[in-house]
Amino acid sequence: MTPDEGIYLGVDIGGTKVLAAEVGADGQVVATARRTTPGRRVEVALVEDALTEAVQEVAAGRPIAGVGLAAAGFVDASGERVMFAPHLPWRGDPTRSRLADRWDTTVVLDNDANCAVRAEGVYGVARGAEDIVMVTLGTGIGGAVVVGGRIHRGRNGMAGEFGHMQVLPDGAPCECGGFGCWEQYCSGNALVRFVRTRLGRVPTVLEQWCEGDGERLTGPMVTTAAEHDDPVALQAFESVGDWLGVGLANLVAALDPEVVVIGGGVSAAGDLLLEPARSALVRSLVGAGHRQVPPVHPARFGPHAGVVGAAHLARSTS
Ligand SMILES: [Zn+2]
Repeated sequence: MTPDEGIYLGVDIGGTKVLAAEVGADGQVVATARRTTPGRRVEVALVEDALTEAVQEVAAGRPIAGVGLAAAGFVDASGERVMFAPHLPWRGDPTRSRLADRWDTTVVLDNDANCAVRAEGVYGVARGAEDIVMVTLGTGIGGAVVVGGRIHRGRNGMAGEFGHMQVLPDGAPCECGGFGCWEQYCSGNALVRFVRTRLGRVPTVLEQWCEGDGERLTGPMVTTAAEHDDPVALQAFESVGDWLGVGLANLVAALDPEVVVIGGGVSAAGDLLLEPARSALVRSLVGAGHRQVPPVHPARFGPHAGVVGAAHLARSTS
């Protein structure tokens, strides 16, 4: 790219915020702009206006060579439409082409987890790997799979929804209508739930931090408490990490990847989460003594994974 051809942008469209970023050819985030996501019960045009404002703020009048959109929702396999997103109003609208016309540049669209695995595979901890499993632990679980160097999308573009694999028959009810889904035991929500059931029964600093009200607990509070050696918070990570390893053993048995990458907000806890996960993976994986067990790495990009991957998608498309 020369400066004359314009800059590349990635835009991450989440349930609460829109993050637009100029991203360099080396994956560096150069400049960013944020907007609040207008919500899911509004006109589609309001969301597209917010995206346009954020893109224009980052571009600041410079020519744009391409924009990649990373959407928190189901994107059809052709990359034209967001078919469904729990926190966004799009329901099969031709988002990609409409924004390409509006912005008069190349626009590409993918699911946010696919963009994150692209960022890690091109610039991050899975660089050069042909077979990658990525699991993102936030409120729930998201994920993406790279097979033979290509993102595996599946027939409907819905591959990688690992969170709703059943890990415990007759287990905890899930928002999806099922029972015992993986994300009920392994997610930010699972961390919080673990602590909530112990409030008032076992001494923990989190009791004071949430003033005895379990509804005020958050995942980041549990992470901070664990970093201060709070015993209940440490047990919460031990439990969530163990469930992470159990689920990974299933994914590794099915897909035999070179590397596993763990992203999302919960992964900020690092080895507090990943050490029990690695132990459970080896314990639970079929033939563990007779195969190379893949390394489990924390993601490099954190909150910028979506914009970095989306901008790379635009760069490699235009
Ligand atoms: Zn579920």
